[in-house]
Amino acid sequence: MFDKILIANRGEIALRVIRACREMGIQSVAVHSTADADAMHVRMADESVCIGPPSGTQSYLSIPAIISACEITGAQAIHPGYGFLSENANFVQIVEDHGLTFIGPTAEHIRVMGDKITAKDTMKDLGVPCVPGSDGGVPDLETAKKIGEDIGYPVIIKATAGGGGRGMKVAKTAADMEQAFMTARAEGKAAFGNDEVYIEKYLTTPRHIEIQVFGDGKGKAVHLGERDCSLQRRHQKVFEEAPGPCITPEERARIGKTCAEAVAKINYIGAGTIEFLYENGEFYFIEMNTRLQVEHPVTESIFGVDLVREQIRVAEGLPMSFSQDDLEINGHSIEVRINAEKLPNFAPCPGRITQYHAPGGLGVRMDSALYDGYSIPPYYDSLIGKLIVHGRDRPEALARLSRALGELIVDGVDTTVPLFHALLEEKDIHTGEYNIHWLEHWLETNLGNA
Ligand code: ADP
Repeated sequence: MFDKILIANRGEIALRVIRACREMGIQSVAVHSTADADAMHVRMADESVCIGPPSGTQSYLSIPAIISACEITGAQAIHPGYGFLSENANFVQIVEDHGLTFIGPTAEHIRVMGDKITAKDTMKDLGVPCVPGSDGGVPDLETAKKIGEDIGYPVIIKATAGGGGRGMKVAKTAADMEQAFMTARAEGKAAFGNDEVYIEKYLTTPRHIEIQVFGDGKGKAVHLGERDCSLQRRHQKVFEEAPGPCITPEERARIGKTCAEAVAKINYIGAGTIEFLYENGEFYFIEMNTRLQVEHPVTESIFGVDLVREQIRVAEGLPMSFSQDDLEINGHSIEVRINAEKLPNFAPCPGRITQYHAPGGLGVRMDSALYDGYSIPPYYDSLIGKLIVHGRDRPEALARLSRALGELIVDGVDTTVPLFHALLEEKDIHTGEYNIHWLEHWLETNLGNA
């Protein structure tokens, strides 16, 4: 059993892990940059270590600094949260080489799923349905054009090392191919140091449906249904819900079983998310995230499980505390991402919080590292909180979301809260009729956002 866990992250996710540790009687160690000396995760952890200057590369991404912090404090395991080093296979290897435990999948699983082409090939072999497209990487423009003709336009060109919505370009017709191909390659090279790209059929009106899976690393795995994360801006999720408003129990059982069996076969350990585009009743795999997702609380809400606790348990070699038959959906949950950003253009808006009041009451969870007087540093992600609501059904969850948003006070900086108030006025949000392009169209029409 672990006595002490180091959390290699900051913000709300660091608090999330500290909370699980405390409930399990495990000591927690926070790491922080000089810019985060007054951050909530530092205050809340049992111990803290300063690991470097503000820039992420010199602090939260500095492997030597994080390993040293473990050695100094005697932490036996590292929880990476999401982002930063959470999907860095090299880091996992180094953690293990130092006799420490990485709370997450193996370096090999991260490597396989981190390369989108290998991930797709692996999933195809495991019987998971994929988007039609090129067989692996596309070496040059001529081949790209030929593939475009074969699968039919529109197509999407994706950097194999891509992530966070970067390194993806759509070619609507053959005339767009040259520019889309070259740009996707250049973006892949600049952002991820890898210019390999592949091509997929571009689905025009899909929903983004992702399946939460969980494995014990010994051939046993379960699924925890789906999350619908179709409301996106620039391929970034802003509003997530579970269960998906358009998924039937039969579809859930079928795709869930396929996913659980696939990860069981590869002895996957811990939490993972298999992302699909969903159109006309069909699921198409796009990628697997080998970590806890930002939106994991909606799944926790409807299943009444603690995914972080479960991650820690399996990392300790314990069995999962639930089996597929124990997992039953209860009600409906929605999460909105509250970013320190100024509408209409979502410009980052760091600064000092003059007043903060979190909403509460039945079915309301606010995961945030804000407090009165806190200064949001300009160096990191603009996510400052996640408001998660749970209701007996979708209409109740939506009403609760509206009520809770009304109680939330974040003064001193601009946030995305007004966006959610406005979305809750929309009929399509109440009927659940939206696809991955809905929000961008809405932003263009209502806010003149480009
Ligand atoms: P990333 O790793 O950058 O998040 P993904 O492959 O997960 O990239 O894709 C992110 C988003 O891009 C999807 O949620 C979807 O909105 C869009 N997308 C990706 N592939 C396709 C496709 N084949 N057709 C239409 N949209 C796509």
